[in-house]
Amino acid sequence: MQQVVEALLAELGQDIVQIGAAVHERATSYWDASPTQALAVVKPRRTEEVSRALAICHRFGQPVVTQGGLTGCVQGAVASGEEVIISLERMNVIEQIDPLAGTAVVQAGVVLQTLQDEAAAHGMLFALDLGARGSCTIGGNVATNAGGINVLRYGMMRDQVLGLEAVMADGTVLSSLSPMLKNNA
Ligand SMILES: Cc1cc2nc3c(=O)[nH]c(=O)nc-3n(C[C@H](O)[C@H](O)[C@H](O)COP(=O)(O)OP(=O)(O)OC[C@H]3O[C@@H](n4cnc5c(N)ncnc54)[C@H](O)[C@@H]3O)c2cc1C
Repeated sequence: MQQVVEALLAELGQDIVQIGAAVHERATSYWDASPTQALAVVKPRRTEEVSRALAICHRFGQPVVTQGGLTGCVQGAVASGEEVIISLERMNVIEQIDPLAGTAVVQAGVVLQTLQDEAAAHGMLFALDLGARGSCTIGGNVATNAGGINVLRYGMMRDQVLGLEAVMADGTVLSSLSPMLKNNA
């Protein structure tokens, strides 16, 4: 077993760091049902776990592929065998909806349709919409700056984003989470 995988397992445990059959039983992507090839799949539940995983990979110079819903059309989330996958599928919590401000705070792995439905239940419209709504994730939508079928009226995904919490490749956590469009910082 590669040293980096041993280090990930030692620090994060087998529930979060999956290897062997658990990797190969995943489809490569929405477009390709063949088995995933990667050293390991890391499935964090919290930002801190993403940070620790990336810090370890950074220490070993280990290439990483981030995965959301795997619906992207250009294979950006597809691993080729030598990478560690960071899958955001367990970070799927809508943390806050504020109907007064018209804002939501969501984790990266929330499925687009889940947020659309939750917004509608609060009398609001989450305007981004695309055919992959039942599988694609908000993190993937932001990363690809998805357009979709409402783009001419409401803009691209980045037009919906007020702020981000992001984990850098070395594990550093940056946060610009703000409920306000105005930001003179
Ligand atoms: C039926 C169908 C219709 C579609 N229609 C449209 C459309 O109208 N407009 C459009 O723009 N796209 C469309 N797409 C493409 C795709 O759905 C979008 O690109 C979507 O935004 C990808 O989200 P995902 O969660 O599946 O990301 P993935 O496919 O998992 O990843 C896409 C890229 O984002 C990165 N990424 C994913 N999550 C994160 C994260 N949390 N942090 C950092 N990087 C991350 C990945 O590494 C990869 O590079 C469609 C796809 C399908 C299958």
